[in-house]
Amino acid sequence: MDSIRVAERVRRIKPSPSTSAAERANQLRREGRSIVNLVVGEPDFDTPLHIRQAAGRAMEAGATRYTSLAGTLDLRRAIAAKLARENGLDHGPDEIIATNGAKSAIYSALAATLEPGDEVVIPAPYWVSYPDMVLACDGVPVSVSCPEEQGFKLTPAGLDAAITERTRWVILNSPSNPTGATYTSAEYRGLAEVLARHPSVLVMTDDIYEHIVYDHERFEGGTAPHLLTAAPELRDRTLAINGVSKTYAMTGWRVGWAAGPRSLVRALDTFLSQAAGNCCSISQAAAAAALDGDQGFVAESVAVYRERRDATAAGINAIPGLSCGLPEGAFYLFVNCGALIGRMTPTGRRLDTDGDVVMWLLETAGVAVVAGAAYGLSPYFRLSIATSLETLDDGVARIARAVADLT
Ligand code: PMP
Repeated sequence: MDSIRVAERVRRIKPSPSTSAAERANQLRREGRSIVNLVVGEPDFDTPLHIRQAAGRAMEAGATRYTSLAGTLDLRRAIAAKLARENGLDHGPDEIIATNGAKSAIYSALAATLEPGDEVVIPAPYWVSYPDMVLACDGVPVSVSCPEEQGFKLTPAGLDAAITERTRWVILNSPSNPTGATYTSAEYRGLAEVLARHPSVLVMTDDIYEHIVYDHERFEGGTAPHLLTAAPELRDRTLAINGVSKTYAMTGWRVGWAAGPRSLVRALDTFLSQAAGNCCSISQAAAAAALDGDQGFVAESVAVYRERRDATAAGINAIPGLSCGLPEGAFYLFVNCGALIGRMTPTGRRLDTDGDVVMWLLETAGVAVVAGAAYGLSPYFRLSIATSLETLDDGVARIARAVADLT
């Protein structure tokens, strides 16, 4: 029997629920079931050709060795230029570190700063990984419920009530995974006023979906507003996290970054120099080409997501018992399934939680989605629109048929 004892650090975290849901869907598929997978959190497009070609050229030119830990100067210059051009920020290459995806930037920032018992304020619904990363770094995740009536957003009062003597970080993710909620500059200013009273609290902005916004008239330049543009006084304690995964359909390339105060970026550098090393040299060349090159793909892919968002939200809202707003950003619908709770399935099972709803949808309708509980707010489920319209239509039709059979 395999009985290796793993560390308490690992026992206290759980595998990503979206990964587990995707695995269960794949297992059913292998068993011959027809499954509509609406779990995936990655663009269904290929990385644009000019980016792939830049990787090919980098390989030919011998970019196959270790780079400086923080990333090549070319890439950090491209990131600095992007931050200036799109976000109005002035971080220099020595205030930027390239990492193995945004995930690694977030984890190493927490690892480099948290002492046991330090608290991290996480507005819920949140990206599933934040609380577990905090736990893995011996910190305490403090989830603040941000209900639908608040647009799933953190209010100044909610933030104020969550901050204690032990608060080290506040994590803001706009547009949000899973809700698409996107803060306006005015809302950021309200949060900044609270933060002004707590000068030792660090702020992490997870900007990974910043380009996937649907109201371009409101979101000038096609990116979501940035906290630091609204509240530049927070610059010396804010770490801005981003990457190429979602914007350029580059999830597999693993390039993200953190931009912030030099001392903090240096701490990430020290941690990663022992924990991981630089991110892939070829991927770095590709990411620089993505940031410096033609941006046409971004608007084209957002137009496709918008069509899917509109059609799928209309389909969901036509199902009695389900409802969802139109997300302002990202590529998910966060569907309210409160009216299904307490209903009975044809086989006599009562749906008591959103976890029950999700399991029942998978088993009876063959539709894979993720329960709101995984994101810290129930009763909801997250449905990804990063898949074809045909697949989405099929998924919605199956959900409608299954719901019609409930009593
Ligand atoms: N932040 C959020 C909110 C995400 O949804 C994801 C991807 N699921 C990431 C960070 C991680 O992105 P990356 O691929 O760059 O590690």
